[in-house]
Amino acid sequence: MADVIVLGAGIIGLTSALELQVRGAEVTIVTADDPADTVSAVAAAVWYPTRIDADPRVLAWGTRTFEIFKGQTIDRTPGVTMRPTRMKIRHDEDTPWWAAAVPDFAAHPGEWHFTAPAVEMVPYLAHLRARFEAGGGTLDRRRVARFDDLDGAALVVNATGLGAARLTGDQRLYPIRGQAVVVANPGLTTSIRDEHHPLGPVYIHPRSRDVVLGGTFEVGDPDLTIRPETARAIIERTTEVEPRLAGARVEKHLVGLRPARHGGPRVEREGRIIHAYGHSGAGMTLCWGTAEEVARFVEGQGLSRSG
Ligand SMILES: Cc1cc2nc3c(=O)[nH]c(=O)nc-3n(C[C@H](O)[C@H](O)[C@H](O)COP(=O)(O)OP(=O)(O)OC[C@H]3O[C@@H](n4cnc5c(N)ncnc54)[C@H](O)[C@@H]3O)c2cc1C
Repeated sequence: MADVIVLGAGIIGLTSALELQVRGAEVTIVTADDPADTVSAVAAAVWYPTRIDADPRVLAWGTRTFEIFKGQTIDRTPGVTMRPTRMKIRHDEDTPWWAAAVPDFAAHPGEWHFTAPAVEMVPYLAHLRARFEAGGGTLDRRRVARFDDLDGAALVVNATGLGAARLTGDQRLYPIRGQAVVVANPGLTTSIRDEHHPLGPVYIHPRSRDVVLGGTFEVGDPDLTIRPETARAIIERTTEVEPRLAGARVEKHLVGLRPARHGGPRVEREGRIIHAYGHSGAGMTLCWGTAEEVARFVEGQGLSRSG
């Protein structure tokens, strides 16, 4: 019998399962979707606390996650790299709260510069799954309607993202729709952010072979169809910011629903359930720190409370 069932195989479920496994737990993952079909597989995915409020817990999880990804670049973990970033600042802003996690953060006139982890999620999720299975873990594909359906373990980690709304009745969860376009990389190596561009939010995230262009933050919109007019607008404004994108071949369209939550992520223990959901636009940014927190709750030492 498993010691712990982790419900969910997105970035929060997989990292939690691995963290528990290395601490000696017998872990089974139960998931409705293959890791490659989760919201996590859609993420751009660059370390940055997108659409998440300042909170000491979040800063601690983000700082740990940054450190762990940085270590993984040294170990040459598949899909992980450190990416220089230029972020356009259109109004006078104080040093952001999250800069404490970023060793080389530097404020220049009109721009912030920093280097942050960037992860190609499809190979990275596949790598995490392979590590989990090589460690003796099993992944069971099925959707559950209630926690009582999970009777094979003493403890359950609820890493179901937006799916937690149905399982727990949590009314604070809501989707933030994100659409993005993947184009062939014309030779870009620096990430660019311009959140307050007059035509809409801009992010340009180069990867090994392509570039993710974004994006949208549509609060409360659960629609997963690709909107061609949105894609055209994203290409137009990202090309205005980075003219080398002109004419780049479109390879793919992405859409996903960020699991946002009023009050921030819920990471806390409730009886035999350890909740770990609601990471909004920052699941990759907070994953390893969250996984360590989950492991502390499993070991009975967790201190955090949900917001
Ligand atoms: C366009 C876009 C760009 C993004 N860019 C970034 C970025 O640059 N950096 C960053 O940090 N984050 C980014 N994000 C956010 C990030 O994708 C999410 O925060 C993250 O994926 C949430 O992970 P999760 O594991 O909580 O949820 P998910 O990936 O949604 O996984 C949930 C899991 O739970 C399972 N599940 C749900 N309900 C049930 C059930 N009833 N029974 C069984 N299984 C169930 C699902 O099958 C799935 O396996 C982006 C998101 C989008 C949409």
